[in-house]
Amino acid sequence: MNNVIEVKNLVKSYGKIRAVDGISFDVAEGEIFGLLGPNGAGKTTTLEILEGLKRADGGQIKVLEREEIGVVLQSSGFLPELSLRELLVLLGSFYQHRRDIAKLAEDFDLTTLLDAKYEELSSGQRQRFALAAALVHEPKLLILDEPTVGLDPAVRQKFWETILELRKAGLTILLTTHYMEEAEIVCDRVAIIDYGKILATERPVKLVNSLGLVSRIKFMSSKLINLAELEVLPGIISARRDRYTYDLETETPEDSLRELLTWEKKFSGKIFNLQVQQATLDDVFLKLTGHSLRE
Ligand code: ATP
Repeated sequence: MNNVIEVKNLVKSYGKIRAVDGISFDVAEGEIFGLLGPNGAGKTTTLEILEGLKRADGGQIKVLEREEIGVVLQSSGFLPELSLRELLVLLGSFYQHRRDIAKLAEDFDLTTLLDAKYEELSSGQRQRFALAAALVHEPKLLILDEPTVGLDPAVRQKFWETILELRKAGLTILLTTHYMEEAEIVCDRVAIIDYGKILATERPVKLVNSLGLVSRIKFMSSKLINLAELEVLPGIISARRDRYTYDLETETPEDSLRELLTWEKKFSGKIFNLQVQQATLDDVFLKLTGHSLRE
């Protein structure tokens, strides 16, 4: 598979701040790649260099031609006096190849809003319009900077659906986010970035598994269980009890769970309210950086 983006040892400083400190990553054609990190990690600076808006101090980048890239910035500066239709026509006029406006509006459920102005739109409608505007010239690569900040959960979910559909249609997507659930749900691969450095690049599920992070199995029991019986099950690191609730820490949740259920067959009581809590990207972030993504 071809790489749409190749970044090697990219460096960018603002005065004494090394905003981007020697990062490298590739984005393959047709994948959704996420840069996951807290505010100030250097995500926006990296995107701006790829978009040609800023110059790097060092390193190499390979990316598609400008006409083949669509961009949604953190704050979109759409001319306030123009209608959505006029904005799409104006944006399209910068490119040789452009989509039919009526069809584009239909795809993003904007048909009835074409005569409205951007400022009159709800946050969900703004989001859809920003995407439509970025795709007016049918780019091959879409770059999104923190696309769902400040959106309510329903709008955010709808947005995830939309970009997964766009990927299915062949678009390559690079996005930044500081929401780990966003990275986990939509990204094929994620680079974890903190203080201008990439600490790991992997598929989200692999990141979680590769670090040997601890998962938990919780359940309640109708009868008292001797903790020593639980501690010997495979993968179990520790077993605790709080009244009727048992809490097992495990490195291999699937194996431990299977054995627990086998063990239960010989148990004279009943276990219920069974829950498995798998480690998440948030835990990965904490382990790699020593601080939480949400701090
Ligand atoms: P955010 O989501 O808040 O934009 P980010 O991960 O995108 O965070 P950047 O915007 O790339 O991070 O910023 C990285 C670092 O560079 C931060 O410490 C920021 O304060 C600094 N920085 C960014 N732009 C400038 C600038 N134009 N001048 C000086 N410092 C800057």
